[in-house]
Amino acid sequence: MEIITDGIDINNGSLDPLPIVAEMPEVDPRTGTDKLKVIIVGAGLGGCACAMAMHYAGFEVVVYEKIKKFLRLGDSLGLGENALRLLDRWGCLDKIVSIGNKSPVFHMRRYDTGEILATQRLLDMAGYIGHRGDYHQAFIDRVMELGIPIHMGTNVARYNEDDPSVTLDSGERVQADIVIGADGIKSMCRELVLGFTDKPKSSGYACYRAYMPGSKLKNDPYAKRLVEKDCMNVWIGPDLHIVQNTCKDGEEFNWIITHKDEADILESWSQPGDPKEAVKLVADWDPTIVNAMKLTDTCLDWKIVYREPLPTWVSKSGKVCLLGDAAHPHLPTSAQGASQAVEDSACLAVCLQLAGTGNVRLATLTYERLRYARVLKTQKTGEDLRIRWHNALKKVQAGEKIDPQSIEMRNAWIYPHDAEKDARDRWPAVSTQIQRELEVGNVIHPTDLLGPDRYDIPQISDEEKAEIDKIVVEMVRNYPPSYTGLERGVTVPIVSPVA
Ligand SMILES: Cc1cc2nc3c(=O)[nH]c(=O)nc-3n(C[C@H](O)[C@H](O)[C@H](O)COP(=O)(O)OP(=O)(O)OC[C@H]3O[C@@H](n4cnc5c(N)ncnc54)[C@H](O)[C@@H]3O)c2cc1C
Repeated sequence: MEIITDGIDINNGSLDPLPIVAEMPEVDPRTGTDKLKVIIVGAGLGGCACAMAMHYAGFEVVVYEKIKKFLRLGDSLGLGENALRLLDRWGCLDKIVSIGNKSPVFHMRRYDTGEILATQRLLDMAGYIGHRGDYHQAFIDRVMELGIPIHMGTNVARYNEDDPSVTLDSGERVQADIVIGADGIKSMCRELVLGFTDKPKSSGYACYRAYMPGSKLKNDPYAKRLVEKDCMNVWIGPDLHIVQNTCKDGEEFNWIITHKDEADILESWSQPGDPKEAVKLVADWDPTIVNAMKLTDTCLDWKIVYREPLPTWVSKSGKVCLLGDAAHPHLPTSAQGASQAVEDSACLAVCLQLAGTGNVRLATLTYERLRYARVLKTQKTGEDLRIRWHNALKKVQAGEKIDPQSIEMRNAWIYPHDAEKDARDRWPAVSTQIQRELEVGNVIHPTDLLGPDRYDIPQISDEEKAEIDKIVVEMVRNYPPSYTGLERGVTVPIVSPVA
């Protein structure tokens, strides 16, 4: 890939920092005095994390949420150490850790016999896994403790891009210096940012998901083992896997079965399913988990919707941007959806702070460039794991042992990352680069900067990399004409990121 503009070499082929050309300003996030006005749309885990980060950066924050009152929705959700480190700085750690599954390990098992094929440290796998609703409540509580206003039951009807503001259902228009769309997978903000509707695609998979009291399993001779204390297991079989998690030392129990599904795409977290249909898929599997499923009254049918990586997360003016699921939904097997939203929040807050007053566009473009490649990789880990779990036993002859490493979750590389520190360390180089691009009116597309190490997921095979490359090439080809009409696309030819 070769991109040269006006004598400035911006073809480093990767997101490696350019030579540092400016001293990094010394800014203490907790004493920032610049009262930048920030509107956050959506009070999900992403919106709340963003509110905390912006508060600690010293900004004036307000959150709008269309739901009147949150219920305890969803089931198991993982928060990795990459997110916990940031939540700790924002005063939200203790509650979070008390919610998560306390088991030190999780087991990967054969689908029929339940034999353990591999065992991994839970923290290397998915971090702390707890009920999404409990984590969400802890986030909301912290936002309220910090005195950040959350306007519940307030739908944002329109985003206005140039003098950044939102128009509420009531007709009231609220202005700020920046508007952040943390409005989830069905984001309306995404349409404004992209200039087109990004339709979801079927991933070809769906999950039945159930969450129930552990006491339901106590009298079953097989299933009762699963609720004696906190534990986590996954049963893998051809084209199917079942994840089981407990919360509160077995008081609560959750199973999720991921199976092939070509039904219509319905992007919903509340579509009811039939547990009997789920049991039919695994009738001859290990009774420990199948009996637990048979004791289930209700479950959800959740289609795993796929969205290709977006061409950009930042609007034309640079004053409206996306965060969390609105920018980059993750597959459940990545266990990183919420954690990446937390990382986004930390990075964006640091960028806004270091950019200083009047430089919101520089901040949001730098945020996007600092985050894009990492997020793409964390998204891809989810696909990688599902492929390995669903194929592992197809390749093994009867009686042959499986290589435990071939089915382990490979998320350990994600956890040491400190998104705040990373943003501070790389700000001077990346923001200077973007400043130059802004000066020549040629801001490079993030996908054009993905270098040869872009899918540098440890141990991912060349075949798998080639598969991912194909997806990205297709994605670039499919950008609608309206995207290339945007200022950011006009002067830069869209070059395939694959050499
Ligand atoms: C109901 C539900 C259940 C889930 N269950 C699980 C689970 O079991 N396991 C798991 O791993 N992940 C689950 N997720 C996904 C997970 O919560 C997210 O991946 C992660 O928390 C990051 O989410 P987010 O804050 O970016 O988006 P979301 O959690 O989707 O939050 C977006 C928020 O924006 C609000 N909003 C949208 N449009 C507007 C508007 N116009 N005006 C005002 N507010 C608006 C929405 O009401 C919502 O509260 C669930 C998500 C939802 C919504």
